Amino acid sequence: MSDFPKLFIPGPTYVSEDILDSLSTPQIGHRTPEISELIDYLVKGVQDVLYTKNDIYLVSHAATGLWEMGIRNSVKKGVLHAVNGAFSSKWALSSELSGFHTKRIDFKWGDGVDVQQIDKCLTSGEFDVFAMVHNETSTGAMSDLESISSMLKEKYPDILWLVDAVSSMAGIKIEVDRLGIDFLLSSTQKAWGLPAGFSICSVSNRLLDISDSIDNKGYFLDIHTYRKYYLKQQTPTTPSIPHMFGLKKMIQKIKSEGIENRWKRHIDMAEYTRNWALSHGQTFFTNKNALSYTLTCINNVQNWDINKINEDLLQRGFRMDRGYGKFKGKAFRIPHMGNVYMNDLQEYLSVFNEVLS
Ligand code: PLP
Repeated sequence: MSDFPKLFIPGPTYVSEDILDSLSTPQIGHRTPEISELIDYLVKGVQDVLYTKNDIYLVSHAATGLWEMGIRNSVKKGVLHAVNGAFSSKWALSSELSGFHTKRIDFKWGDGVDVQQIDKCLTSGEFDVFAMVHNETSTGAMSDLESISSMLKEKYPDILWLVDAVSSMAGIKIEVDRLGIDFLLSSTQKAWGLPAGFSICSVSNRLLDISDSIDNKGYFLDIHTYRKYYLKQQTPTTPSIPHMFGLKKMIQKIKSEGIENRWKRHIDMAEYTRNWALSHGQTFFTNKNALSYTLTCINNVQNWDINKINEDLLQRGFRMDRGYGKFKGKAFRIPHMGNVYMNDLQEYLSVFNEVLS
């Protein structure tokens, strides 16, 4: 057994040995042909995963920084934030603190984002940007991007659409170009199955154009700072090169698994976990219309002693999730994404069963 428990928390997620090995590839210079070759591979690989031809920027910081990047480069009038959990609420806070005209539209935690209510809010004409979280990690609620995409295309074609996909990118199929997402962001410690501290975004041409006409974006988070170096297949600042080698390995793994198989694996694992929970008499915290494919949030109606289970699982080499913030003990989450394959999940749930009995 490793010195550390195997992670079954919804981020950082379990990183497999082959990925860990790739992180220790010797360093290369960040202004060399070697890095450009690497970045070229990574950009094409990420574009394939996201079904897009958009620019892909690789950034060496947490996804939280990309919330600000998205907003600073798009909002002129105001931003409407859909809030249905802890992360969507924090993103709205970050826009408020950055001084933008921000409105929150609140949904019950556990529900997905409701397209009709968004439509109603957007009719006011106050907003040029709509921001939402695709997969609320705090509650396991996955929103329907298809219906939002149709509504925006049909009624608000000029509104820029920003989507946080931190716990869905590379685990759930998101067709960026077809859906028309202007800014899609994620960090790498969830469904990408890499360590934290590195993030990825896709940026549409129209967002680049709008950003061009916005002043005072600073330097570090100005999308055009990234674009300038992107065109040279470099990054503006010295990047986290180990993450880039890790991402290369991950893209190779995705290719050998097959992208459609990857999406199916995540759906199969979600179904397996849901059935496991139901077979134990538990229910879902998340609305049944919004159950995520990458994590399952379980309402602890059986009143299991989550702290005790946590201790027992730790002794057996697993780190569980006990629930987000105020839900601790009441609604706990089981992640099934990234480097977790069906056999890993089955092993975890069978040890969980052992602990329960
Ligand atoms: N958005 C969502 C949906 C998340 O789950 C998280 C982290 O858990 C974040 C944003 C923040 O990501 P980071 O810690 O990389 O800034």
